[in-house]
Amino acid sequence: RLLSAIAENIGVLLNIARLGHQVNVSLEREYARLEAVRSAAEQLAIAGTPDQALRHLVEAAKQLVGARHGGVAVWSVAGNVKTLVTSELGEPGSPEQRETEAKISDVLGLMRFALVQERKSAVRVNDSPFTDTDDATDGFASVLGVPFRCTDGSIGSFFLADKQPSNRFNPEDERLLSLFSAMASVLLDNLRLYSAEERGRETLNAIHSSMAEGLLVLDADGQVAFSNTAAEKLLGTGDSEIIGKSLRAWLLRSPERFEQPSHSTDLAALIQGESAGSVEIATTGSDRRDLAVSLFPIHVSADESLTGVLLRDVTEERDHERRRDTFVSITSHELRTPMTTVMGFTELLMKGDPSPDRRAAWLEHIYEDAERVIGIVDDLLDVSKIQSGKFDFAVTPLDIRIALDEAAEKMSTASVDHLLTVDAPASLPRVLADRNKLTQVLLNLISNAIKYSPGGGTVAIDAHEDRANERVIISVSDQGIGIAEKDQPRLFSSFQRIERTAIAGIRGTGLGLYIVKGIVEKMDGTIWLESIEGQGSTFFVALPTAKGRAQGTQTAA
Ligand code: ADP
Repeated sequence: RLLSAIAENIGVLLNIARLGHQVNVSLEREYARLEAVRSAAEQLAIAGTPDQALRHLVEAAKQLVGARHGGVAVWSVAGNVKTLVTSELGEPGSPEQRETEAKISDVLGLMRFALVQERKSAVRVNDSPFTDTDDATDGFASVLGVPFRCTDGSIGSFFLADKQPSNRFNPEDERLLSLFSAMASVLLDNLRLYSAEERGRETLNAIHSSMAEGLLVLDADGQVAFSNTAAEKLLGTGDSEIIGKSLRAWLLRSPERFEQPSHSTDLAALIQGESAGSVEIATTGSDRRDLAVSLFPIHVSADESLTGVLLRDVTEERDHERRRDTFVSITSHELRTPMTTVMGFTELLMKGDPSPDRRAAWLEHIYEDAERVIGIVDDLLDVSKIQSGKFDFAVTPLDIRIALDEAAEKMSTASVDHLLTVDAPASLPRVLADRNKLTQVLLNLISNAIKYSPGGGTVAIDAHEDRANERVIISVSDQGIGIAEKDQPRLFSSFQRIERTAIAGIRGTGLGLYIVKGIVEKMDGTIWLESIEGQGSTFFVALPTAKGRAQGTQTAA
């Protein structure tokens, strides 16, 4: 009896021990699973983008449960798959990939039907229902899917397929997948916010880089936190040069970038002082620009505000104003001066009775000044014709030497201090040009060459063929005062004269070269210059040859 009592107790004890062992084993398994979930969550935290995180999640779930395939799908209300992240499908384009894709698409169909239409809390299929597809692919042997809902109302599912090695998903797998499913829904919400933010950022970047205006943003310490491409271009700097630097210090360090040193100090003072205001500056260099700079506060939050610096290119506006002012001063000065002479001498003639010699000299003055007035009025009319495109041209094949000789002949008496030479080979081909207009161009260039070489010297008029480009190049060079490189680009604009002491006494309207360029371009030609200040200038005019043009027309036809 004693022995059977002991035996019974031993049996109970053994049962307890076995149960204890089982509890231990399942606790350990549960612990291992929790550990795996924790490490998956840790992976998510370090993933670069929510999209990468979602992939980590699928991989982790696959490994944890021991499935061969896995993925996350989200459907739109209309039932289209909006987001699909799956584990490796195989080599892109391989039969294996196509097969897996077909199987996944089957699974998704079933999944959506069960989860959305039948409102099931999970789909667990261990005996494959996917074997009756039309194509030859066999479906997955087992499938487990758990639904989730995103905050935007769309429904999704986390699914696993082909459990290894048993092919049977169990309730424990389902619990685990529910956990992953919840994480996926959070991630997808993040992904949506992230994409919205990314898109916002991209749009903002596109706006900044398409802006013609320059934009700089300064932090509370006046350091450049942001600059767009236009700002860097207008200031003639690269982002690496100013980002993170104090704009004020940069300005004060770079006075050579501005037309006047006061420009950089003015702007620096503005930045130093108020958070709003504006100042106008001009940059130097061949691409000289007038810039209107305005500062405005950017209130980010109650205790954080930045300063915006907007740079607007006002070169054209200022140019326009300058030309308008010059026009007024030219019409008042250049027209008034000769008219005063005309009136003065006319008055003398009316009142007095001068000797015949004096009378002749006065009449000559009157004639010359009246001629000058007519010259200016003609120039103004030419300008208006160029601007309205109403210049009439009669372009014909022309022997350029006739025009060169005619112009040199007309100018031969213009100055006793200058020697005029003409060099044009007889072999020059004919050019297509308007005879009178070409003479006007040459007269203008030769008279400028004489006018701007007050010390005299040679004015050489040359022409040669530029066979490769089927054109003839005429050049007019002098040994005069020359033109500084920085002034050269604006010479061909209307009413542009260069203020220099060397030409203080030389009269002019600043219209000649503008008209010359207008005429040359109307004849399909080009004009440019080479000059060294203090040594002289050469103006070049290239005109198409008649032969080249005829061939060009044929080719075009
Ligand atoms: P204007 O001679 O009436 O001033 P232009 O348009 O003919 O007007 O010339 C514009 C400016 O270009 C002149 O004011 C002068 O400063 C400069 N310029 C033109 N030709 C020459 C030259 N050959 N040498 C030096 N400077 C020149």
